[in-house]
Amino acid sequence: MVKVPEKATPFFAYAPAPESRAIVDIAASYGLFIDGEFVEGHAKSFKTINPATEEVLAELSEADETDVDLAVRAARRAYTRVWSRMPGSERAKYLFRIARIMQERGRELAVLESIDNGKPIKESRDIDIPVAAAHFFYYAGWADKLSYAGQGVNPQPLGVAGQIIPWNFPLLMLAWKIAPALAAGNTVVLKPAETTSLTALLFAEICQQADLPPGVVNIITGAGSTGQALVSHPDVDKIAFTGSTEIGKSIARTVAGTKKRVTLELGGKAANIVFDDAPLDQAVEGIVNGIFFNQGHVCCAGSRLLVQESIAEELLEKLKRRMSTLRVGDPLDKNTDIGAINSAEQLRKIRTLSEIGEAEGGERWSPPCDLPENGFWFPPTVFTGVTQAHRIAREEIFGPVLSTLTFRTPAEAVEKANNTPFGLSAGVWTDKGSRILWMANQLRAGVVWANTFNKFDPTSPFGGYKESGYGREGGLPGLAAYLKGTD
Ligand code: NAP
Ligand code: MG
Repeated sequence: MVKVPEKATPFFAYAPAPESRAIVDIAASYGLFIDGEFVEGHAKSFKTINPATEEVLAELSEADETDVDLAVRAARRAYTRVWSRMPGSERAKYLFRIARIMQERGRELAVLESIDNGKPIKESRDIDIPVAAAHFFYYAGWADKLSYAGQGVNPQPLGVAGQIIPWNFPLLMLAWKIAPALAAGNTVVLKPAETTSLTALLFAEICQQADLPPGVVNIITGAGSTGQALVSHPDVDKIAFTGSTEIGKSIARTVAGTKKRVTLELGGKAANIVFDDAPLDQAVEGIVNGIFFNQGHVCCAGSRLLVQESIAEELLEKLKRRMSTLRVGDPLDKNTDIGAINSAEQLRKIRTLSEIGEAEGGERWSPPCDLPENGFWFPPTVFTGVTQAHRIAREEIFGPVLSTLTFRTPAEAVEKANNTPFGLSAGVWTDKGSRILWMANQLRAGVVWANTFNKFDPTSPFGGYKESGYGREGGLPGLAAYLKGTD
C-alpha cells in the first residue's frame, strides 16, 4: 500500500512570483454605466473588497428602480434608433473591436479579476480573459450571417435584454451574455454580482474606447433588489440569468405570464466517473481540475467523484498525494493553484456543509497547508465514505470540497450519477470509446466530458437539464436564444 505523506516533500521550493498590480487603476468610487456614460446612482452605495486581504477596493452605486428604469430606457432608445437598424456587418466591427481591446488590455483585466474575485492569476490570465475575448470574436463572426443561424431567412432580435450574472467568472459570464445578444441586434442592461463588479465596469470603459453607440450596453451595479427590479421591468424583452437554482426559480415565477423570454443557467452537482480501465494519473489531474479549479466555485464542477470500487483505494491515494502539492495562497502569485474564497458568506456556507458532511459520517481529509491570516480561505478537501443520502453528495457546496462515492458496474455508475436534481455536466474516465458513447447517452447532463474536464469553447453550447436550468449559451443555440425566428 502506498502511504500518503503528511506533507509532500517538494524537490524545490517555489520562490514568490507575484504579478504586479501596478497595471490596474482602481478608482475610489464608481457610478452606473448608462447611455454610454458613468452617472451617479440615486440610492445607496456599497463596497467591494479583495477577498484575499479584506482590503476595501472601491465604493459602488447600488442601482434602484429609478436607475434600472433609466438604463432600460437608454437600451430601448439605442435598440430602436441605432443598433437594430445597423447592418450586421457594422455591428460585427464593434464586436471585433471590443474583442481586440480585451486582448490588448488582457493583463489589466486579469489582474483586476484576481484582485476583486480572489481567483489565481494563472486562471484569470489563461482562461477567463482569453475565453471571454474569444466569445466576442466568435459572435462577431455571426453578426452578418444571422440568416444561416437556423432561425428562418430573416431572424429578428428580441429587443432589450436584462442580464444577471454571478461572481465566480465575472468577465467570462458577461461575455457569454453580451456577445451573442449584441451580435443578434439586441441591446443590454447587465447586472454583475455584488462582490465582483469591477471588471464589468472596466468593460464599460472598453465599450467607450470602442466607440460603441451609447445605450447599447448598460452596466448597473447593485444587489439582489437591483436584479429583481430588472427582471420585473415591463420594457425588458428577455431575461438571461446565471446563478443559483433558488433565485432562478423566483425569476421564473416573476416572468410567468409575461411576454419575456428567459434562459436560466443554474447550479450543478456533477459526477466525475472513473472506471477501472482509466489512465489513473490523468484521471487524478482531471479530478483536481474538476473540483479545485477556481476554488470549486464552478457550476459544472466535478464535485461528486464516482470511482469503481476495485481501484478506489489506489486512486484516492494518488489523489491525496497530488492534493498535497497544491499551492493555496496569494491569488496574484503566478504559482498559486487555489486562491481565496470569494466572500465571508460563501466561506461560511462551505464550512457549514463540510461540518454536516462529517456529522453525517463522511471521512474528511485535507493536506496540511498554511492559510493566510486575513481573507477567506478553505483548504482542498476530500470526503470518503459518502453515501447518496448525505447532504454533501446532494447539495452544491460551491467550494474546494470533493465527495467520493463508489460503484461496481456501469449501470450503477449511471444510476448514481443521475440521482440528483441537477443535470449540468459530467465526466467519464475510461479507456473504451464505446463505453464513453454509451455513458454519454445515459447521463442526464448538458455537457459530458470524456477523459478531460472543464473544457470551454465559444462554439460549444452549454446548459443544463432539470434544476440546472433551461436554454443554452454558447455556439449557435446561444445565438438563437437572442433571435425571433421568421419563416
Ligand atoms: P445568486 O445568489 O443566485 O446570484 C446570481 C446573481 O443574481 C447575482 O448578480 C445576484 O446579485 C443576483 N440576484 C440575487 N437575488 C436576485 C433576485 N431576487 N432577482 C434577480 N437577481 C438576483 O448566485 P451566486 O451565489 O452569485 O452564484 C452561484 C450560483 O451560480 C451557483 O449555484 C452556481 O452553480 C451558479 N452558476 C451557474 C452557471 C451556469 O452556467 N449554469 C455558471 C456560474 C454559476 P448579488 O450578487 O448582489 O446577490
Ligand atoms: Mg470583490
